[in-house]
Amino acid sequence: MSFETLDLSAELLKAINEQGYSKPTPIQEQAIPIILTGCDLLGGAQTGTGKTAGFTLPLLERLKRKAKNSGERHVRALILTPTRELAAQVGESVATYGKYLPFKSTVIFGGVNINSQIRSLRNGVDIIIATPGRLLDHVSQGTVDLRHVEILVLDEADRMLDMGFIHDIKKILAILPKNRQNLLFSATFSPEIKTLANGLLHSPKTVEVVRHNTAAESVSQLVYPVDSKRKRFLLSHLIGSENWKQVLVFTRTKHGANRLSEQLAIDGITAAAIHGNKSQSARTKALEDFKQGVVRVLVATDIAARGIDIDQLPRVVNFELPNVAEDYVHRIGRTGRAGNEGKAISLVCIDEHKLLKDIERLLKRSIPSAIVPGYEPDPTIKAEPIPNGRMQSGGPRSNFNTRSSTGRPQSSRSSYGRPSNARR
Ligand code: AMP
Repeated sequence: MSFETLDLSAELLKAINEQGYSKPTPIQEQAIPIILTGCDLLGGAQTGTGKTAGFTLPLLERLKRKAKNSGERHVRALILTPTRELAAQVGESVATYGKYLPFKSTVIFGGVNINSQIRSLRNGVDIIIATPGRLLDHVSQGTVDLRHVEILVLDEADRMLDMGFIHDIKKILAILPKNRQNLLFSATFSPEIKTLANGLLHSPKTVEVVRHNTAAESVSQLVYPVDSKRKRFLLSHLIGSENWKQVLVFTRTKHGANRLSEQLAIDGITAAAIHGNKSQSARTKALEDFKQGVVRVLVATDIAARGIDIDQLPRVVNFELPNVAEDYVHRIGRTGRAGNEGKAISLVCIDEHKLLKDIERLLKRSIPSAIVPGYEPDPTIKAEPIPNGRMQSGGPRSNFNTRSSTGRPQSSRSSYGRPSNARR
């Protein structure tokens, strides 16, 4: 199928062509015709499937077809996202795909000065891409008028619920016109998402490109069992010895992200941390440096990494497994995008065995594991509760579906790594 068969205007086809997309991705192929009919849609799609264009293109097409000639600009489409990064990226997509159409869009999120947002709203926009909290600030200040919204998109709705935005979303829904088209995208379909979808969507059509809670097949996954204290050395070793150029590393906490990026710097590896405590400009700069190859490692927490969109990101590392198994699927979905191969590597210590089991249960398969010579876990170390209070059952070490070794010779240690002397 080609984009030409999707009934999109010449202006959109031209913009798509400039992006170099030769054919629609599966979510685009399925979602675009449905959205063009005006139906509500429930979309099961992870980042990396092309979902943003999947809703942005038909949204722009519908606004164009229903364009009014009154001369007055109203907010006709509202796209809500969980994070600033995702809002900024969706905003870029709207601007890119809509560049030959006369619509104006603006991105609204917190952490930056509100006045420039007020100015652009006052000048008139057709499309708003926003995070819920800051949008409500504008609502309460009377600086945004949402009475003319025709299309509402909730992007990464599962993450919005995880982040506790449900009340904000309800407040926003309450002030939107009743008669509108609703599109809800989510990577997972939890009971909470189903409840939200039932209340929001009218006779929706459902499209789902990756079966929910499964990892993309283009991502190969591997677990390296290692003691928690030695994870940072193993990471430096892998980066150095395998010469990784661009790797996104996940930690569980903001503090952990900072500490790891400092430790990597000590090991001579350029790294930056990105998390919610950093200013928006620091986050944008870290992301840009990472994309440009100025820093090799971006250390991120789950929330900060949502929506990070890097073409051809070859590798994701779970320095710590996430507490919530679904987050693993989100994390590794950063790599293996748009037809490229990706690798997801998890450094797993004994305390995390239960988390690993949860993930494997969700994926309905076990993840292969391999010991890196010199980094064998110490069998005398017992599992301890991890900080969020979840007890980790010790369990036999054979919980790991371990291949004997990476096959790398023992001597191939980089100067970064500090393997233990004891071979067990
Ligand atoms: P998304 O899932 O929306 O985050 O998109 C993932 C990546 O796929 C983005 O970098 C898009 O630029 C890219 N993309 C979107 N649609 C296509 C397409 N039809 N062909 C190739 N790449 C695409």
